[in-house]
Amino acid sequence: MADTEKCIILGSGCAGLTAAVYAARGTLEPLVFEGAEPGGQLSLTSVVENFPGFPDGIGGLDLIESIKRQAQRFGARFRYGVVKHIDFAERPFRLEIEDETEPVLAHSVIIASGARARTLDLPGEQELWGRGLSSCATCDGAFFKQKRVVVVGGGDSAMEDAIYLTKFASEVHVVHRRDKLRASQIMQDRALHNAQIHFHWNRVPARFERDGAGKLSGLVAKATDGTAEESIACDGVFYAIGHIPNTDMVGDALPRDAAGYLMADGVVSKIPGVFIAGDVSDHRYQQAVTAAGTGCAAAMEAEDWLQAEGLLGR
Ligand code: NAP
Repeated sequence: MADTEKCIILGSGCAGLTAAVYAARGTLEPLVFEGAEPGGQLSLTSVVENFPGFPDGIGGLDLIESIKRQAQRFGARFRYGVVKHIDFAERPFRLEIEDETEPVLAHSVIIASGARARTLDLPGEQELWGRGLSSCATCDGAFFKQKRVVVVGGGDSAMEDAIYLTKFASEVHVVHRRDKLRASQIMQDRALHNAQIHFHWNRVPARFERDGAGKLSGLVAKATDGTAEESIACDGVFYAIGHIPNTDMVGDALPRDAAGYLMADGVVSKIPGVFIAGDVSDHRYQQAVTAAGTGCAAAMEAEDWLQAEGLLGR
């Protein structure tokens, strides 16, 4: 078995990468497991307008790639792979990696595994996924040139997606379950004043419609008061209905809040040597800059802890 790692970081989004920059500069020689979605959600974001230091905005992927290069410059190592289970019962911790037989051992772990897009479990969802149904407008929007699309949701992601999709689609319809948007005021204003975006208030998706060839041809949305159904003809449907934290690998070893997000004292978990950063424990802010901030804090706590345990070899 390979040597025990000083610090393993789960996740390569803004939190994991920032943790990697700090851990690498702190001589923790971090090993980053990139996770199921390398780069995290930011790499699926078109333009990030609110990350400090970029007055004209920066592409999500550009930002992620820059932080990764920064971490690599200080010696952080990256490995494609998903950590499927961590055994915290003994130290060093034992990490099982998907599709690998050998576990990896680590003195400290930073969990920055982020969150994945929520889905609705409607009939036919599985077959339509990637064939008209998507949760990533930035990835798939260009497939819908001069087509009709529906965006489901009323938060910042939904507004961002709807606005982005107007670059390609001939019609963008937003289906939202209330009559008020959750999105920030600036995003609301942009979307509500965009003549290409049509809002369907107080409605939730009920089922998909398909043409004779099985291709997505519409979304039936039902009124939340149960009064009516409306069929919206479309070629694509984009879910933007929030996220589910990626916590499977910890089992019941760490506490979660009511929404399933990991709980910690700041970034310090209840297990010594285990630290938590980014969206996996952030139900409230979920911003690139807050993820970066907690990634930094987690790496600094890990460094202090390793030093106090005499595991840094300084
Ligand atoms: P969100 O703020 O949680 O919004 C999710 C939306 O989906 C809400 O409008 C919610 O309706 C709706 N929804 C949830 N479950 C649903 C269901 N089962 N059926 C139908 N509708 C459902 O998630 P988000 O938009 O992904 O944003 C997450 C965080 O990232 C936020 O803090 C946001 O500010 C941030 N963000 C910021 C930007 C930006 O600044 N440009 C861009 C993207 C994301 P209700 O409103 O009724 O709850």
